Amino acid sequence: MSGWRDNLLKVEPYVPGDQPNEPDMIKLNTNENPFPPAPGVKKVLEDMKYDRLRLYPPTDAGRLTDSLARAYNIDRDRIFVGVGSDDVLGMAFLACFAGKKEILFPDITYSFYSVWADLFKIPYKRPALDENFRIKKEDYYAPNGGVVIANPNAPTSLAMPLGDIEDIIRHNPDSVVIVDEAYIDFGGESARPLLEKYDNLLVVQTFSKSRSMAGMRIGFALGSKELIKEIYSVRNSYNSYTMSMVSILCGAAAVDDDAYFKKTVSEVVGIRNYTRSRLLELGYDVLESATNFLFVEHPEISAKDIFEKLKKKHIYVRYFNAPRINNRIRMSMGTKEEMDKVLLEFERIAKGE
Ligand SMILES: *Cc1c(COP(=O)(O)O)cnc(C)c1O
Repeated sequence: MSGWRDNLLKVEPYVPGDQPNEPDMIKLNTNENPFPPAPGVKKVLEDMKYDRLRLYPPTDAGRLTDSLARAYNIDRDRIFVGVGSDDVLGMAFLACFAGKKEILFPDITYSFYSVWADLFKIPYKRPALDENFRIKKEDYYAPNGGVVIANPNAPTSLAMPLGDIEDIIRHNPDSVVIVDEAYIDFGGESARPLLEKYDNLLVVQTFSKSRSMAGMRIGFALGSKELIKEIYSVRNSYNSYTMSMVSILCGAAAVDDDAYFKKTVSEVVGIRNYTRSRLLELGYDVLESATNFLFVEHPEISAKDIFEKLKKKHIYVRYFNAPRINNRIRMSMGTKEEMDKVLLEFERIAKGE
């Protein structure tokens, strides 16, 4: 009768943060950047010849790959470009974790990793972070079919020293090690220099956070020629024209404006440091962030309460109802003006108002 239901895949999807849309809201729940993309991106959109859309885009992201190669001083054939780093990571999981052994990633990290592993039927194990939410590098020395480390980690906001990342790579000559650097531009040290030493390392970054382009969907991976070729082979076995011409040209314009990039990143870092020290003064516990968000707890007020009270004021933050982190909220950085309004609410909440 309805036996077709037995043939459905039935997966548990990743649950992204809400995308509320209220005129007066302060949206701090999905780690977007409060500043607009580089001015060159606007110019690309204004000057875009719409007839260009008749043609298929280059499959290797053309000018965007050129710009990335120049910016990161790396050969074109060591760059994979995808539809946000979610696409890049998904393709990398599929291409690099095809062995039988369990892959390893922390119990508390980006929640998409386990979703891809389930979807692609990759076995996995999740070593626990220590009581201070730090990754224990020795946990990743065990035999495995691959390793994924977000550095800085989310939602904890903590960065791991590059020496520890290298120790993990050095102990895993037989696995691909993916370092997800979605937040690296806001703090921490990139593993990019290690690419010269390790051909099993894949460094993944995104335009969604530090380049203010979450809506454009651009991410990329840097790795050895062999690894990148393999990921492109998998991508081309599924959909070869993933990057639209619009995102290729806008992405290239963003990368080409290094001054704007550095300026907006340093502003976000300044706002983050300011917000954190104000929250500490108000009696909140805030982990030392190397990202564009803060992971916040109050010793007496529950995270759920804080979340609800902020929501009533149309301030949206992220709350994870998960073991070990259900008394913290994750809050992205808005503009200085927005954060001053938000801090006022945190002050009221701390006073029990
Ligand atoms: C935001 C994020 C991503 C995905 O970003 P995209 O928008 O898909 O580029 C990947 N990993 C981590 C840890 C993130 O926080």
